[in-house]
Amino acid sequence: MTDELQEAVEKEDVDINFDCPLCGKNISIDARGAGLMITCPDCQQKVQVPIPLAEDDAAVVPADDADVRVQALQNALAEADSRRERLVAELEAAQRRVVLLEKSATEQRERFEQISAELVMIQNALDRMVTLLQDAGVRDA
Ligand SMILES: [Zn+2]
Repeated sequence: MTDELQEAVEKEDVDINFDCPLCGKNISIDARGAGLMITCPDCQQKVQVPIPLAEDDAAVVPADDADVRVQALQNALAEADSRRERLVAELEAAQRRVVLLEKSATEQRERFEQISAELVMIQNALDRMVTLLQDAGVRDA
């Protein structure tokens, strides 16, 4: 085993030291016990093992601070959720506007095509009349 690996293993196995919130007894527990409910060896009461802030951080947060952190995270999450809902609503409104604009553009295009078709029909009718007049003229001549 390399020294680095040995160090990492030892670091991982570092104990959590904390004072029992009920009797003040200093308790040591394996880091894997973080967040667990244990029985204090002194007062025999159930106490929660504090969760270390980070792997590299030897310091531990008392349960109260952890609660505050959890609450702050929940608040941030709720805020992100409501912001996401607002963005989704704005996006949906924008999508509805796009649909309306596309519908309007389609309608205008259809109207334009209809007018173009009518113009073609009128042009054809005029052409036929010109041809008929020309035929009549030729026959008269
Ligand atoms: Zn205790």
